[in-house]
Amino acid sequence: MKRTFKLLIVLCLSLSICLSLVACANGHMHFWNTEWAFDKTNHWHTCADDNCEDISNLGEHVFVDGVCETCGVTSLQVKFDSGLGTQESPYIISNSEELANMASVTDFTYFKVKDGVEELDMSNWTAFRLNGSFDGNGVKLVNLSTRLFTHVGNNEEREIYLKNFEVNVNFVSNSHAALIKEIDNFGTTLFENVQIHGYIEGESNTAALFSFGTANGYSGGSNYTVELKNVKIDATIVCVTAQPVAAFVAHAFAGASNKLTLKIDNDTQFTGEIYSAGDKKYNEYVSIGDFEIYKNGELITQAEVETKAISKVLPVLTEEGYTVSVNENAAKITVSITAQISAYDEDGNLIPSKTGITMTLVTKDITENLVGNVKIFDCFTSAKIVNNANAYNAEIVDGVLTLYVAQSVNYASGVVRLQVQQYNAQGEIISCGTLNVYTIEK
Ligand SMILES: [Zn+2]
Ligand SMILES: [Zn+2]
Repeated sequence: MKRTFKLLIVLCLSLSICLSLVACANGHMHFWNTEWAFDKTNHWHTCADDNCEDISNLGEHVFVDGVCETCGVTSLQVKFDSGLGTQESPYIISNSEELANMASVTDFTYFKVKDGVEELDMSNWTAFRLNGSFDGNGVKLVNLSTRLFTHVGNNEEREIYLKNFEVNVNFVSNSHAALIKEIDNFGTTLFENVQIHGYIEGESNTAALFSFGTANGYSGGSNYTVELKNVKIDATIVCVTAQPVAAFVAHAFAGASNKLTLKIDNDTQFTGEIYSAGDKKYNEYVSIGDFEIYKNGELITQAEVETKAISKVLPVLTEEGYTVSVNENAAKITVSITAQISAYDEDGNLIPSKTGITMTLVTKDITENLVGNVKIFDCFTSAKIVNNANAYNAEIVDGVLTLYVAQSVNYASGVVRLQVQQYNAQGEIISCGTLNVYTIEK
C-alpha cells in the first residue's frame, strides 16, 4: 500500500495525470485520471487504479456549439458507441439507432460496426447521403425496404469504401431503384465483401448497386472509379418498363466527356435474375452511359444476358375492393401494403433526416381460385397514421385504413401503395404492379 502510494506520486509528478487524491473507504487513495470518460449523457473521471471502479466529477454534458464545455466531446461523438469518426478511430456502431445516426454526420467521416454485432434491423430505415466510408464488420442488414443510401460521397475526390456487410432488401420504387441512388465521389469508391439478397423493382434505371453517377443537381459530373471486390449479388432485379436495367450499375451518368471506370475481380458475381418489360437482353454490369470495364486489370466487353419477361399488371379499384387480373400461368399472388411517410417536428416543419421512411405493413399470399379477376384487398375511403404504436401494422375498419407506426416521431403525411406480384408454378415472377392507393395529407 505504501509502495503503491509512492508509485502514484511519482506517476503524478512525472506524467501530470492526476487531478486530486481522495482517501476512500476501501483503504486506498483514489487517483483520478484527468482524461474524461463519457457516455451518451454524462462525463466523469475514472480512478487510475484498474481495480477501482469508483468515479468522480460525474456530470451531464452541456453542449455549446456542438462541444461539451466540460469534457470536450462533440454532440456527434455521443450519437455512437465510441470512436472519433477518423480513419484510425471510426465511429463505432452497436445498434440500429446508431446506424441511423450516421445521417446527422455531414463532414467526411469513417464508420464501423462494433465487433460481435451480427445483425441490424432496418425496418425503420430512412436513406441519406453517406459522406464517408462504412465497414460493416460482417454485419447482416435485414428488413430493408428502401435504399441503403441516397448518395455516397459529396461531389469531391475521395477514397471511399463500403465493405464487409450483407443486406436483405425488398425495395419497390415508382422511379429508379438500386441499393444506392448515386455515387457522388469523384475518386474511387470500393465495394468489398458485400452481398445483396432480395428484390429490387423500379420503373427506370434499375440495378442492384447504384442507379446514377457523378452528374447530378450539384455537379456537372466527373470521371469516377468504382471497384468491386468479392461483391456477390443474388437479388431479383425487376424493371417494369423498357428503361435501363443491369445487374450492377444502371446508368454511368458521369456528365459530358466523363466516364465511369468499373474495376471487377473474379470473385464478383451476379447470380440473381433480371426481369424487364423492355428488351430481352441486358448488359451484365452497366446498362448505359460512358464507361470502361476492367476485369482483373484487363479491359473487357461485357456480355449481354437474356432478361426474363415481366408484364406490369396494376390493381384496379372496384365496388368489391381492389382486384387484379390474374395471369393465366399464375400459381401464387403476393400482396403488400407499403407506405412511404414523412415526419414533422413540434413546429410542423418537415424533418429532412426523417423523410421517406418506407414500411411494408401487410403481406399476404393468395394461391386459390386464381382465375379471371381476384380480390386482393378491401377498399378504403380514408387513411390515417397512428404514431407510437407497439408494432408496424395496418388495418381497415369501417373503410378507414390506419397505419400503425412504432416510432416516437410525428409521422403525418405520405403515400400508401398496394404492391402485387404474380408468380408461376416454378416460382418465377411473371407480372407485377404497384399502385398509389392513397395520399395522406398533413
Ligand atoms: Zn480508486
Ligand atoms: Zn461532457
